[in-house]
Amino acid sequence: MNQEQIYIDGAWTPAGGTALTPVTDSWTEQPFAAYRSACAADVDRAVRAARRAFGTWSATPVAERAAVVRRIAAALRERGDELTRVISREVGMPAKLAARIQVGAPIAAWDAYARLADEVEWETRLGHSLVQQVPVGVVACITPWNYPLHQVTAKVAPALLAGCTVVLKPSELAPSSAFLLAQAIEQAGVPAGVFNLVHGTGPEVGEALVRHAEVDMVSFTGSTRAGRHIAALAGQDVKRVALELGGKSAALVLPGADLGAAVKATLAGCFLNSGQTCSATTRLLVPRDQYERAAALLREGAAGYRMGDPADGATRLGPLISAAQRQRVLGLVEQALGEGATRLSPDVALPPHGFFVAPTVLGNVRPDSAIAQEEVFGPVLVLLPYEGVEEGVALANGTAYGLAASVWGPTPAAALAVARRLRAGQVDVNGAPFNSAAPFGGFGQSGLGRENGRHGLEEFLEPVSIQMPPAYFDTPSTNQE
Ligand code: NAD
Repeated sequence: MNQEQIYIDGAWTPAGGTALTPVTDSWTEQPFAAYRSACAADVDRAVRAARRAFGTWSATPVAERAAVVRRIAAALRERGDELTRVISREVGMPAKLAARIQVGAPIAAWDAYARLADEVEWETRLGHSLVQQVPVGVVACITPWNYPLHQVTAKVAPALLAGCTVVLKPSELAPSSAFLLAQAIEQAGVPAGVFNLVHGTGPEVGEALVRHAEVDMVSFTGSTRAGRHIAALAGQDVKRVALELGGKSAALVLPGADLGAAVKATLAGCFLNSGQTCSATTRLLVPRDQYERAAALLREGAAGYRMGDPADGATRLGPLISAAQRQRVLGLVEQALGEGATRLSPDVALPPHGFFVAPTVLGNVRPDSAIAQEEVFGPVLVLLPYEGVEEGVALANGTAYGLAASVWGPTPAAALAVARRLRAGQVDVNGAPFNSAAPFGGFGQSGLGRENGRHGLEEFLEPVSIQMPPAYFDTPSTNQE
């Protein structure tokens, strides 16, 4: 990979920015790459290339677009090991897990989008109208670092299938997989200008994209803080905005549920990727009479999360992405302890290097405290007791977010009755697994819109109603014109 280059209008071209942004290996704490940032003129060239390519790409038959998407999946598959290596080093997720979750799942998603082409009704009849689904236009995709290829895939794959053209700005903290994707896109023969890649920080390069007059839509995944700012900027030009933001997801254990299974799955959901998962289950809500038992199970469970080198097959918990992230997480934990919280997880020694935070479980936490309300983005779980199902539901719904939740009940039906009352975009009942075809997104400050599957594709489509003289539908021969 030539780290001085970005991909614009079907060609690798030197980036014009002055900054060479280092990328740090989260385990060694040493720089392992550095990418040159785009300058304002690069962003402009990338958007204009996407605009020029839009006419032809949007008019390309969907079956051809689907074939391109399928070829991208194949080209990514050839780069699977390299993708795992760079993502695991940048993000810190154990390589064994990263191969499946960070790489295998996104590549499968590219193939799944290609298959969707046949399932979508691109034109339907409604009375005397023809309702067409047409691409929104030029899309700016801005993505975070925690599941870098997954988050890029959830935008770029459906956007390309829909007939949109794209300028991608990946996270400056974990950009390597996006560069490998650009190589795969080039290998797949995507026409010039349909996909463009720029690199750089949010306030400089990201904002230049959001403000650009030729961008029709901004699809953003990241923090609520940045999402709020981007939505306000995009609103000035009435650009379409899709926002996938933060979360503070609850696992609600009902009386009579299997507490052992709930604790195990909630810890796994919270500690996955060292807590750097937007849908992490970071609040465990249990009936008050189950609190002590839950605390004991959590202590025992947390002790099983062995920290270490992400490349080591025995590691379950890797480092966080950066020193700044570790400092933020530790600051929130210290604040909670200062406010009277108790540490339920055992004290364990940290590895000699890497941005580690030990797996942490806190009890004696007030539901309105920062640690129970704010997204921590580290391996930190809070245990909260409740009295009666009404209070449990109120606590589960009682944050500014609404991204995900899980409910554990004595039967799936009992849990489902409560799951229907939760204001979260994704709710899992009794440990049911993730479904990549189901819509993903949030209520409240977790964002706007949905990603994944058919719903994710629809984000990049705009319905157009064409009214026809009713006689048109009576004489099939005129349909041939
Ligand atoms: P971030 O908001 O700092 O950055 C995300 C992206 O936005 C990066 O590419 C960054 O460069 C860019 N950016 C930042 N400020 C910008 C600005 N002013 N204008 C334009 N672009 C800007 O988030 P992060 O720290 O990279 O990621 C962590 C956050 O992402 C967490 O809050 C997490 O919950 C959220 N997230 C949400 C989902 C979801 O699907 N809901 C998924 C993953 C991560």
